[in-house]
Amino acid sequence: ATPTSIMVGTGRAAELGVLFRRGDALQALQSVRVIAFDKTGTLTEGCPALTSITVAEGVERADVLARVAAAEAFSEHPIARAIVAEAGPEAAPPAEGFQALPGFGLRATVGGAAVLVGAERLMAREGIALGALSAKGAELARTGATPVYAAIDGRAAAVIGVSDPVKPSARAAIAALHARGVKTAMITGDAQATANAIAADLGIDHVVAEVLPEGKVAAVEELMAHGRLAFVGDGINDAPALARADIGIAIGTGTDVAIEAADVVLMSGDVAGVVNALEISRRTMGNIR
Ligand code: ADP
Ligand code: MG
Repeated sequence: ATPTSIMVGTGRAAELGVLFRRGDALQALQSVRVIAFDKTGTLTEGCPALTSITVAEGVERADVLARVAAAEAFSEHPIARAIVAEAGPEAAPPAEGFQALPGFGLRATVGGAAVLVGAERLMAREGIALGALSAKGAELARTGATPVYAAIDGRAAAVIGVSDPVKPSARAAIAALHARGVKTAMITGDAQATANAIAADLGIDHVVAEVLPEGKVAAVEELMAHGRLAFVGDGINDAPALARADIGIAIGTGTDVAIEAADVVLMSGDVAGVVNALEISRRTMGNIR
């Protein structure tokens, strides 16, 4: 690779909003075998909305939503914003003893009641029987929504559907990568069935779901056994995986921590930038072969 051709390629990429922070990433990307994507905020908008709430028998919708929202008011997870936005501001007393359970959900006390909110695996871990809510949760997941379960005082009270739309350009970007002979994967902490539905919708080859926040690096390492790998992510908890991957690609609208850890930054936040980055890398390297 000549320094001049690298400079020209880097400049062309910048014009398209693709920032190569390191020259060796421009050289390495051309021969990538697998591109793995974080789901939330990378393939999806990252702004989920509450789409449904189904309560257990004898439970009042407004009451459970108010308690859950009071607890979620202390959470920084995107799911929290979706739920808080849907509940009235003064519906329940403020939560006490809030505890985030990363990768699972949260725990708090609201108006003297123990409130537990999160994924099915949280309810399983706490020994909460889901009863009829389980089928509703499975149905939500099949449509690509995230089922969020709530338990009050140890009893399953509701399942809330939270839906995060995929970015408009994601499907075409995945197809363009496949057309260029690159395999695609998605890595997410979300439920397996939810992840499968979204991956099927986007045409993604391989899904790694229910990954705990500290498990993303191991997921990336496993995929790296199949050849040179790029990982695309936006979040604070994506930073270690971005650093570990052969090529780390950060969404420019994501967190500073992710951008700092990456080799390539997509300034617009558009995943189509991944295709542009690959094209420029291949053309640049082709010029000098
Ligand atoms: P992701 O970034 O893929 O959502 P996380 O590790 O942050 O992965 O969360 C994994 C799962 O844990 C979520 O899909 C959700 O089911 C549950 N969860 C985490 N935080 C919350 C929260 N504040 N409220 C409800 N559910 C949560
Ligand atoms: Mg993300």
